[in-house]
Amino acid sequence: MSMSGASRRTGPGAERLVVIGGDAAGMSAASQARRMKGPDELEIVAFERGHFTSYSACGIPYWVGGDVTERDRLIARTPEEHRARDIDLRMRTEVTEIDVERRRVRARDVDSGAESWTSYDKLVIATGARPIRPDMPGADAPGVHGVQTLDDGQALLDTLARTRGRRAVVVGAGYIGVEMAEALINRGYEVTVVNRGSEPMSTLDPDMGRLVHEAMEGLGVTMVNDAAVTKLLTGDAGRVRAVVTDDAEYPADVVVLGIGVRPETDLAKAAGLPLGTHGGLLTDLAMRVRGHEDIWAGGDCVEVLDLVSGQERHIALGTHANKHGQVIGTNAGGGYATFPGVVGTAVSKVCDLEIARTGLREKDARRVGLQFESVTVESTSRAGYYPGASSMTVKMLAERRTGRLLGVQIVGREGAGKRVDIAAVALTAGMTVEQMTALDLGYAPPFSPVWDPVLVAARKAVAKVRAS
Ligand SMILES: Cc1cc2nc3c(=O)[nH]c(=O)nc-3n(C[C@H](O)[C@H](O)[C@H](O)COP(=O)(O)OP(=O)(O)OC[C@H]3O[C@@H](n4cnc5c(N)ncnc54)[C@H](O)[C@@H]3O)c2cc1C
Repeated sequence: MSMSGASRRTGPGAERLVVIGGDAAGMSAASQARRMKGPDELEIVAFERGHFTSYSACGIPYWVGGDVTERDRLIARTPEEHRARDIDLRMRTEVTEIDVERRRVRARDVDSGAESWTSYDKLVIATGARPIRPDMPGADAPGVHGVQTLDDGQALLDTLARTRGRRAVVVGAGYIGVEMAEALINRGYEVTVVNRGSEPMSTLDPDMGRLVHEAMEGLGVTMVNDAAVTKLLTGDAGRVRAVVTDDAEYPADVVVLGIGVRPETDLAKAAGLPLGTHGGLLTDLAMRVRGHEDIWAGGDCVEVLDLVSGQERHIALGTHANKHGQVIGTNAGGGYATFPGVVGTAVSKVCDLEIARTGLREKDARRVGLQFESVTVESTSRAGYYPGASSMTVKMLAERRTGRLLGVQIVGREGAGKRVDIAAVALTAGMTVEQMTALDLGYAPPFSPVWDPVLVAARKAVAKVRAS
């Protein structure tokens, strides 16, 4: 083992920033730190165990579905581009240990197995999340795919190109499951979605999830709820041939797993860094690992503060990872920035059905002891008389007595999804539903009815809060 030295372009007194993880959070942090300080002041060494940097996993469903035709369109910045910005990027190199005491990390070349220690003055942990793989027979059989990385996406595309049958089973009905259902429909597959919950999209209340369920059935998807997968059966050459639940068997030529992720924090845990109840690293508002002045963490490996419930949550979203990276890079580069927390906004789609949520679901509000009123309205995306108007359902939760907005869920066609951003801003600002009714939103018949669907829901919520 050797202790690696400073890179050529680094000044003699430069500090060294080591980054573990070369995607959204890690490379945003590295890039921002480089903007803050040149190589004469700060050496930046980044370790990535995979083949790619700064790639959009978010785009994988659209690449697999054929909307995006080239893998490389999903890569925002290549290793060479990072290196050209004086970031010493070590690809296919996995950090296997963090020695907090001696301020160094041990890294292993994935291909050769060679190991070496690299010392740091400042450390960024951006190791992301690990997909949950079911521990059951057949889960690793050929034809069973995750979709976490570009390599996973390519492996799935290779399987789709080789497979003669057209039956696909998606296990899990979160947003990745429903997006992958769309991708497989677009590829001409008969799709079955097997879901453990009572309705798809458990990030919504079940009554809103029901709308997603019905719409997916309308697209020809077979939806199976309340079903625990017990094993995967294999056939010719060990390839997957069926997904088995407690009481049924679903034939499958290909299986896609989308059953969630866990923070990738084994390294951090072994190093004695603080983890929360969801297994994510705990940081302060500057994204500094609690109790460690020179270690930051961000992205899918951390827990975030939910500004509505006041509790820590693990939410694996690229939108947060990029912001975390920006904050970390600013701080590690000697500046000052904070990440105040999230309101839990997310948007996704399956074919032309848009699904959006922000804030608390009913069960979240109950769990933290909030009393609330809930309203659901049907409205349209455009003025009713304007061609192309389609219906959307908006559900809104407001706190009893105070009328404070607590959460919004929207399911509908074109224009439904990003409307949730109105509610995200209102939640962030701590607005009441009454204040929302006076929001000066844009209106013209091609864009919305004269009362935007979100404001229709707010008006109904005001009435209910007043009556309570
Ligand atoms: C199919 C799919 C669709 C998605 N769609 C959306 C979406 O629409 N909107 C949204 O906001 N988010 C979406 N996401 C989530 C988003 O991609 C993640 O939140 C984001 O990539 C997190 O960035 P990160 O840098 O924290 O982690 P990651 O992107 O997971 O990157 C972590 C990196 O660290 C590397 N690494 C881990 N451990 C080590 C180690 N010990 N040594 C060296 N390298 C290591 C990994 O190889 C990885 O490249 C989607 C994710 C998937 C899988």
